Amino acid sequence: MTDMTAAETLPTTGGSAAHRATGTTPIVELASIGAGLRHRLLAKCEFMNPAGSVKDRIGHHIVRRAEEAGLLVPGRSTLVEATAGNTGVGLAAAAAGRYRLVTTMSSKMGPEKEAMMRAWGAEVIRCPYDVPPDSPRSFINTARRLAEGTPDSYYVDQFNNPWNAEAHELTTGPELVRQTGGAIAAFVSGAGTGGTFTGVGRALRAAVPGAQLVLADPVGSILASRARGGHARPGPYLVEGIGGDFVPGLLDLSLVDHAINVEDRDSVRMCLRLQREEGLWVGGSSGCAVAAAVRYAGTLTGPPATIVVMLPDGGSRYTSTIYDPLWRAEHGITEVDAEADAQAAV
Ligand code: PMP
Repeated sequence: MTDMTAAETLPTTGGSAAHRATGTTPIVELASIGAGLRHRLLAKCEFMNPAGSVKDRIGHHIVRRAEEAGLLVPGRSTLVEATAGNTGVGLAAAAAGRYRLVTTMSSKMGPEKEAMMRAWGAEVIRCPYDVPPDSPRSFINTARRLAEGTPDSYYVDQFNNPWNAEAHELTTGPELVRQTGGAIAAFVSGAGTGGTFTGVGRALRAAVPGAQLVLADPVGSILASRARGGHARPGPYLVEGIGGDFVPGLLDLSLVDHAINVEDRDSVRMCLRLQREEGLWVGGSSGCAVAAAVRYAGTLTGPPATIVVMLPDGGSRYTSTIYDPLWRAEHGITEVDAEADAQAAV
């Protein structure tokens, strides 16, 4: 339940309507998922941003900051970015009618976000997934090269751009504090660039010093291991948008109090539970974060407390993957369908 109006937190003049409609997303209790827990789970509904994900926040914020810094000239500049798709859509919404946008995306990502970027007029270049981060063919190195070869281009570089984390430190974090009255025992989120984790983490360290910052990370990503001081090797995984085979410059691992690895099947299973039990249709990174939040809640001693978890994007971006039973069968994730059949038979 949101306890404020957009007008209280967002500028009413300047910026596009989309920018003004971004943020101040609802926070809702996951009453069914949390039913067996001693602690309360609250979910931040970032899929309710106008272009559909948490990345609307950084799209608008980075474009505004870059304009203020004289790095973008309307009608002339080209934005170039490497993305799992959501940042591309968020940037497209922020750039609409003013800038050309070229994005690179790894072949692992489903087709929906590519279609959305194209629908906004962006040019999308697919790059191989199964190459190491230092390969010239990686989606990040391809974007960097494209930016270097494009006149009047601005390489957004979300993995290192401090305006990414700043957007969350200035908006997402303070919203969570206001919406909970500061009663946050723990914050649970995945990290792709680390912008959300680092930005919200900084805001919470300042406003709610006792809040535990919990990193939810897919098995196969190295981030949780690095946060624990380990040296796990990267492996493939299915969840899109979080985790990785390198530590982004923006991810401040010193903020991580707990790091929890989640198997793909548990992230997918939680997505289906959120859909069936809570009526929330979300992406795999949300399923991962909620699965981690449930596990963390089981270990948290002390009086009943509130655990806040991020839901970065919506399920419509995953109709051909997580929400397609054939895709699930292809990846051996069939127990969710057996569970649904059993439920329907009751
Ligand atoms: N979930 C999804 C679906 C994403 O696309 C992203 C961004 N790649 C994230 C979570 C993580 O956000 P951040 O980049 O702020 O760590």
